[in-house]
Amino acid sequence: MTDSRILVDTLGRVHNNLRISVTDRCNIRCFYCMPNENVQFKPRVEILTFEEIVRFTRVAASLGVDKLRITGGEPLVRAELPNLIRELASVPGIRDIAMTTNGVLLADHVVALKEAGLQRLNISLDGLREETFERISRRQGLDRVLEGIFAAQRIGFEKIRLNAVAIRGITEEEIVPLGEFARQHELELRFIEFMPLDAENNWCDDQVLSGSEIREALEEAFCPLVAIERKDPSQPASDFRFADGIGVIGFINPVTQPFCNACNRLRITAEGKMRNCLFSIAEWDAREIMRGGGSDEQLVELLRDCIRAKKPGHGIDSPNFVRPDRAMYQIGG
Ligand code: SAM
Ligand code: SF4
Repeated sequence: MTDSRILVDTLGRVHNNLRISVTDRCNIRCFYCMPNENVQFKPRVEILTFEEIVRFTRVAASLGVDKLRITGGEPLVRAELPNLIRELASVPGIRDIAMTTNGVLLADHVVALKEAGLQRLNISLDGLREETFERISRRQGLDRVLEGIFAAQRIGFEKIRLNAVAIRGITEEEIVPLGEFARQHELELRFIEFMPLDAENNWCDDQVLSGSEIREALEEAFCPLVAIERKDPSQPASDFRFADGIGVIGFINPVTQPFCNACNRLRITAEGKMRNCLFSIAEWDAREIMRGGGSDEQLVELLRDCIRAKKPGHGIDSPNFVRPDRAMYQIGG
């Protein structure tokens, strides 16, 4: 019999990891995520309030969710974000709160975020040359991202992770500088394969620079990489330690090595739609329940329905693959 206090799908995957998108807005325009111009943002009234996010999280936590990741769009463009984090940190059962940010506004907010209870930070950094930053994000700002990384380290964030999306034709030149930077500053570096979630629908599999190609380049430049035993089976990254003891590198290979069989994630978009996969076509509307005077029991049922409907895998490599009609910034990465 299934334990009614947990969110378990038909394949037995237990969902304890909730990714909360707090906005679909962003201060830059990465080509793998957003359109460059004329972005259609959701009107503010459609975006969940902090009260709604906290209520939803409370219900999810009553079903075993204990890890949260705040994301977006760019979470730091949402006003008063530390207040939300403080409230989420006090939800019974929540033991880990992380955030993914592009880092541009991080230096300004990092103290307040830490004080509010944010435990972990992933900072996106696709390269170390301004030219690469501008080519990808179509805006300026690398200096501010680096400032944000150092500010976070200074005030005591530990285990900061850098996320680099790996794109053929762009990332090759950045692999070694990023590796060097991460080793020098004791930052964990993760390469993420480019997924078909760009708003302009230009993704093609030729642009996916695989984790194994990056691994070869790093080994050639530095020294062998030694696999680290996976402590948490649901962790998407395969982690490696440099044989000389300096630095850890992770590879998230959703395209070439899908990890769906151990997925423990569920998502809620900024306007309150639940999703059981980044590539889900269906959505479950939590906002409708909350704004329609619905009960927590109805939210529990919605959560269960959403998880029960989860497919075995994303199917990117299948000829029948259908892209979701939302891009990454509209889902929450
Ligand atoms: N704005 C924040 C940021 O960029 O870190 C948080 C949201 S962003 C959508 C979350 C992560 O998804 C980032 O690390 C970003 O690089 C990554 N990402 C966005 N689009 C992607 C894609 N098409 N394939 C792989 N990763 C992607
Ligand atoms: Fe903004 Fe993050 Fe998307 Fe880049 S990946 S456009 S920073 S939301």
